[in-house]
Amino acid sequence: MKILIAASEAFPFCKTGGLGDVVGALSQMFSRLGDHEVVLFLPKYRNIGGGAFSLSAVGGNFLIPVAGKIETASMSRVQWGKVSVYFIENAKYFDRPGMYRTQYGDYKDNDERFIFFSRAVLEGAKFIGFKPDIIHCHDWQTALVPAYLKTLYRLDSFFVKTASVFTINNIAYQGMFAKKALIKAGFDWSDFMPDKLEFYGGMNFMKAGIVFSDIITAVSPTYSKEIQSYGEFGKGLEGVLKHRSKKLFGILNGIDEEIWDPASDTFIKRGYDVKTFAKGKASCKRALQTECLIEENKQLLLAGVVSRLDNQKGLDILCKIIPELVDKMQFIILGAGDEKIANALNKLAKTYPKRVFFKSGFDEALAHKIYAASDIFIMPSRFEPCGLSQMIAMLYGSLPIATKTGGLKDTVFYTGEPKSSNGFLIDAANEKSLRSALGKAVSLFKRKLLWNTMIKNAMNGDYSWDASAGKYLEIFKSVHKDRFKSLKF
Ligand code: ADP
Repeated sequence: MKILIAASEAFPFCKTGGLGDVVGALSQMFSRLGDHEVVLFLPKYRNIGGGAFSLSAVGGNFLIPVAGKIETASMSRVQWGKVSVYFIENAKYFDRPGMYRTQYGDYKDNDERFIFFSRAVLEGAKFIGFKPDIIHCHDWQTALVPAYLKTLYRLDSFFVKTASVFTINNIAYQGMFAKKALIKAGFDWSDFMPDKLEFYGGMNFMKAGIVFSDIITAVSPTYSKEIQSYGEFGKGLEGVLKHRSKKLFGILNGIDEEIWDPASDTFIKRGYDVKTFAKGKASCKRALQTECLIEENKQLLLAGVVSRLDNQKGLDILCKIIPELVDKMQFIILGAGDEKIANALNKLAKTYPKRVFFKSGFDEALAHKIYAASDIFIMPSRFEPCGLSQMIAMLYGSLPIATKTGGLKDTVFYTGEPKSSNGFLIDAANEKSLRSALGKAVSLFKRKLLWNTMIKNAMNGDYSWDASAGKYLEIFKSVHKDRFKSLKF
């Protein structure tokens, strides 16, 4: 199959969170599993290029209408294993310090930026002569691609056999704009209907992806159900999703085990596997305690956090109970995002310098060290589409304490019996539940045999992409076959 992946981020080129990990890993998996030609389209943000990847320019350019003006797109490319990566260039839209926002908030023209990108994906495919069987889009930033295929490009012979798959990585970010975005994107007012692009008087990009794609996926089986239920999970799109229920599948994310492997990880003090974790983790713990200038003490339970600082992640709940826990345990927290949460964490680190360390910002090396050094990994998420961090933590022998929601529920098991558990689950993201789970962890940590049984369960889990990437490919094959069948020659 010819597979075109369109996304706003992909590791190792650009990443703000799990979306980048998922797109990067899936592109590689698709190219390795079977005889598929895989092309990945990304925006060319300011910091892309250089380092390990030297991009070459694709000669020429093409024009994209946006908001009544004509914008120019050019492209550069790099071969990344078997994946051809194309970067769409337009200095006005993408040569900026951040990918989506400044520290003061989202870029005001994010609608135009991703209208431009989504349309440039289709024009770019034509430009390089790549006729995709499948276009796989991710989240609101590329959600207009399926909508274009079913409207403006419906009669375009270049895409006559192209089917679209839209993956919801996080429904909390929908790309909601004023209704004039419809016209900026080149759609017709007749598409501004509640069953199409209209959403409470505005235009919702994610809704466009859900309504117009041939298949929708969500990043874990539990999340695919949660987002169809009324309440906070569907974020207003539950009705639209329910309507397309038969075309919606939950496929659990995996993690890239070439990047995340405690045995070969060059960021950490000492490599280890499931047989040697006791010595390996002890050495990593000592090294990180020293590096972070907190008390060097192997008897203290060390809790790690690597997270976006966002209401979703429930770290405000953790902040509230840290003062009552610091006599029993330590915390090393790495996070970027919400200033209020960062301030609260900074204050805690200042008040308890031997027990709490906080670094604000994005730091790949420190993240690896935290996964390896910590005994437990805290994720009191209010909702969690899939979550990669808990899987990375488990692979590194750090037991997650996580809310029973979304992908956390699908990957963390707690039965009350250490021999059949790989972490701790809390029923809801609140202080009481988190306090009680942390209490359980503190006392179980002293019973080394039981604790180590749980570490082995966690480290022996299968978090690879193999099964899930295979499921995507099966869906691609079947939707492509359906698309082909539906054509009237
Ligand atoms: P989300 O996509 O909601 O941010 P996930 O758990 O799915 O959460 O993925 C988070 C990914 O981003 C993990 O690879 C995690 O290690 C990484 N990450 C999150 N915050 C940071 C940070 N401040 N520094 C380094 N890596 C981070």
